[in-house]
Formats: sequence, C-alpha cells, structure tokens
Amino acid sequence: MADNLTFFPEYTASLEQNAEYLRQILPLMSKNNIAIDPLNFAVFYEYIVGRNISLNNEIDKLLTNRTLFSSKLSIHLFNKYISDTSINSLEKINDTLLELINKTSEAINNTGEKASSATILFQNHSKNLEKNQGLSNIKTVLTKIIEETKELAETSQILQSQLDESAIELKSLRQELAQVQEMAKTDALTGLFNRQAFDHKLEEHIETNKHSNSDLCLLFLDLDHFKQVNDTYGHQVGDNVLRYTANLMKQHISKNHCAARYGGEEMAIIMPNTPLNKAMEIAEKIRSSLAQHPLKRKGSKESIGIVTVSIGVSALKPNDSTESLIERADKAMYKAKKNGRNQVLSESLI
Ligand code: GH3
Ligand code: MG
Ligand code: MG
Repeated sequence: MADNLTFFPEYTASLEQNAEYLRQILPLMSKNNIAIDPLNFAVFYEYIVGRNISLNNEIDKLLTNRTLFSSKLSIHLFNKYISDTSINSLEKINDTLLELINKTSEAINNTGEKASSATILFQNHSKNLEKNQGLSNIKTVLTKIIEETKELAETSQILQSQLDESAIELKSLRQELAQVQEMAKTDALTGLFNRQAFDHKLEEHIETNKHSNSDLCLLFLDLDHFKQVNDTYGHQVGDNVLRYTANLMKQHISKNHCAARYGGEEMAIIMPNTPLNKAMEIAEKIRSSLAQHPLKRKGSKESIGIVTVSIGVSALKPNDSTESLIERADKAMYKAKKNGRNQVLSESLI
C-alpha cells in the first residue's frame, strides 16, 4: 500500500449523533475496564455505530471472554475491520492480476523465442535440401524437422495450458471484484445500500429523469423514539430492530426501487417510475406493518413493544436537485414527527 494513502472510514454523523454515541461508548468501556485511549475509543466508536457486523461479533466474543483490550489488539481490530477493507481486497486482486499478466506474457515470450529459432532452423533445412545432397542427407534433415516440430508443438501446448489456466484465474478474479464492488455499496448492518451508494444512485436517477421525465419519488423513514429502544433494551436489540425494519422495507418495495440506510436510524427509498400516490401506498404499508404487532426479542418471548416509524415522501419536480428533493422528503418526515409520529406525510401536506 502506498505510504501517502490512508484509508480511514468516513465519519459523517452529526454533532448530536456523536454526542449520543459518546454517551453509549464511555459507560460501555468503563464497565469493561477498557482504557479510554484514542485507539480503543476508535474501535468502540465503530462498535456503537454498529455498521460492521463482523467487528461487533468479534468484540462481543472478546468482551464475553473478558479479554484485556491492549493497544495492540485495538490496532489489529482497526486494521482488520475498520480501515477500508474493500481497498485491501482490491489491492489483493490487483496483485494477483499483475502476477497473472507476468506469467502469461512470459509464457508467450518463451513460445515466441522457440518459434523464431525454429523458423531459422527450418530455413537452414530448406537451404540444405535445395543443395540436393542425397537420400541420407534428406533422411537426417527430415528427422531433425520432425524433432523440432514436436518440440514446437510441445511448447505451444504449454502456452495453451498456461492460457487456459489464466482464463480460469481471470474468471475468479472477476467474480471477486464484483463481490468487493457489491460490498462497497452495502450497509453491513442492514444489507441495504449504504449512504454513498444512495447518493450516487439518486444523482443518477435525477440525471436520467431529465431526459425521460417519468415519475420519481423519494421516501425518508426515521424510527420513532429509537433512543428509548436502545436505552431500555440495549444496543444489540436496537440493531436487530434496524435489521427487521430494513427487511420489512425490502418486502414492500418493487424490484426497481432502491432502499438505503441514510444514516443511524434513518432509511431512504428511491422509487423510480412511481407516482406519488403509489409511493404513499407503499410507505403506508411499511408503517402499518410495523405498527401492527409488538416486536419480540430474538430467541425469547419478551416483548419490546410496538416500534413505529415516521415517513416523509417527496416527488421529483422539474429542475429539482438531489438536495432539494431530499430536503422536501426530510421536511415531510419531520412534520410527521411533529404531528405525533407513526405516520406518513407527503410533501404536498407541508
Ligand atoms: P425521534 O422519534 O425524534 O426520531 O427520536 P429518536 O430517539 O429516534 O431520535 P434521536 O435522534 O434522539 O436518537 C436516535 C438514536 O438512534 C440514537 C442512536 O443511538 C440510535 N442509533 C443510531 N444508529 C444506530 C445503530 O446503528 N444501532 C443502534 N442500536 N442504535 C443506533
Ligand atoms: Mg428517530
Ligand atoms: Mg433520526
């Protein structure tokens, strides 16, 4: 990895959100006798944000085993889970690809050298034959030609199998690359698109819409009193509620819709080719399915009560930018909160 490149995670949480994280991190660290130094803090910050399931699972295990959190352990966890792992995977793919190119070109060069020296030998043989030096000479030349042809065939066979091997390796590299690309777009906790992918997709849809001018709606969803869920039942339960909500969203949207975790306990759905009334219908389905039943803790019958969401929906207007469309969905969502939560409001009602 080049020294001048650093792959730190992006920290986009608001001031308030970070204050909330801090309120959760400090008691957790002191309860487990973990020194609040910058390295340990970075790891536990990530744990509380909860965007990295593998990291959280490993920390859960370490906490259960009462492992001492040394700086060395934190550096290990940071490198393994936090500094951009997708970049590391990309580097690995890049290295393998380079090796493959070198091996293949070496094989081609070898064959090329053999082929050109064979050409010279064959030219000599042909000159020899032109001199017409009798049968025994023809016999010797012929034996040599047969030998050299065999060698050449062997060399090109080696090249052939080298090329076949390269093709197989290239195929698996292509699959690995696709996986890494997919991972880079996905939010680890919910499996929805992450914020970066959302921003990119919304931009793309708005650009396409300039030419096609079809209906496009944006839905903003925020869990109601979610802090209370965390405070009462713990962060892990909070995480499970986020996953549950994300799955519910996936169930209600169409294939061409794009559901994303916008940040913390806020989700968004881009709905191309969807008029406002249809978007409102889907939003209402998501809201009412959640509000219908109290949720239960995983693996137990203990109820955590009814979890509700507030949703705002905006519809694309000519000359809209990503910011203006987002702003109207966000405003509608906040109006829904103000109106008493557990409801869906469209921008036309704000
Ligand atoms: P409101 O109805 O006004 O939205 O109230 P709220 O409590 O949901 O909103 P607030 O912004 O006060 O708190 C949001 C909470 O969401 C605080 C934060 O700890 C929690 N949260 C954010 N991201 C995560 C996460 O990844 N996992 C868990 N468990 N909680 C999270
Ligand atoms: Mg909320
Ligand atoms: Mg919120």
